[in-house]
Amino acid sequence: MIIGGLEKLTLLDYPDHLAAIIFTQGCNFRCHFCYNPRLVLPPKGGDEKNKKEKGFSPLSNKNLFLFLTERFGRLEGVVITGGEPTLHPDLPSFIKRIKTIGYLVKLDTNGTNPKMLAGLIHDKLIDYIAMDLKAPLAKYAVVVGVPADCKNIAKSVNIIRRSGLPYEFRTTVVPGLLGKDDFEAMGQTIKGAQKWYLQNFKSDTGLVDDNFERQPGYTAKEMAEFAAIGKKYVDFCEVRG
Ligand code: SF4
Repeated sequence: MIIGGLEKLTLLDYPDHLAAIIFTQGCNFRCHFCYNPRLVLPPKGGDEKNKKEKGFSPLSNKNLFLFLTERFGRLEGVVITGGEPTLHPDLPSFIKRIKTIGYLVKLDTNGTNPKMLAGLIHDKLIDYIAMDLKAPLAKYAVVVGVPADCKNIAKSVNIIRRSGLPYEFRTTVVPGLLGKDDFEAMGQTIKGAQKWYLQNFKSDTGLVDDNFERQPGYTAKEMAEFAAIGKKYVDFCEVRG
């Protein structure tokens, strides 16, 4: 595993649990709105975007596990996010080590590796899944900035819906990339799902695509309208943040 950073405490990222967040390095997408360019783009000397990012404290694997062992009891869960964690072939063994300590594990994924996802669920290595639904399948490449295998995205959606685990889908809503009509198509893709959170676009940090920096998000009223469309398709759809 290549660990890009550790956030030692989150009250928000693992529903109902105090948790730490582990950021894995590297991603196979280049979402224009991504606010973690340091984890996604190759490092550049003196990169201004890196300087803008806050809240990361890089750690070696050894120090990471020392931290997790020492904090167990005060923390209940570990959120593994990216980048894209499933790019790392040793993710299953990494999670096994975390679960041996006793932690609950939440996995954040972009859904591009259904095979690994199915294996993690089968081996009972994850307790909560959050998958980004970036766009209607037909528009994926536009939003994620690279060609995308949407069959894998659809497979991951189905694996998650049938997993028996608590889960959520989530969509970052960016003006110019997603509009009202797209929520019907996305709703069809995850029809019958438990939860779908919509997050309004914010551009207050360095982003993967400079062109999106300092662009405004949608209004609260517009976000509420998108959530109302989402509610037609899933059990629960809400604007988050
Ligand atoms: S938003 Fe997520 S999937 Fe998209 S580039 Fe950033 S880390 Fe990768």
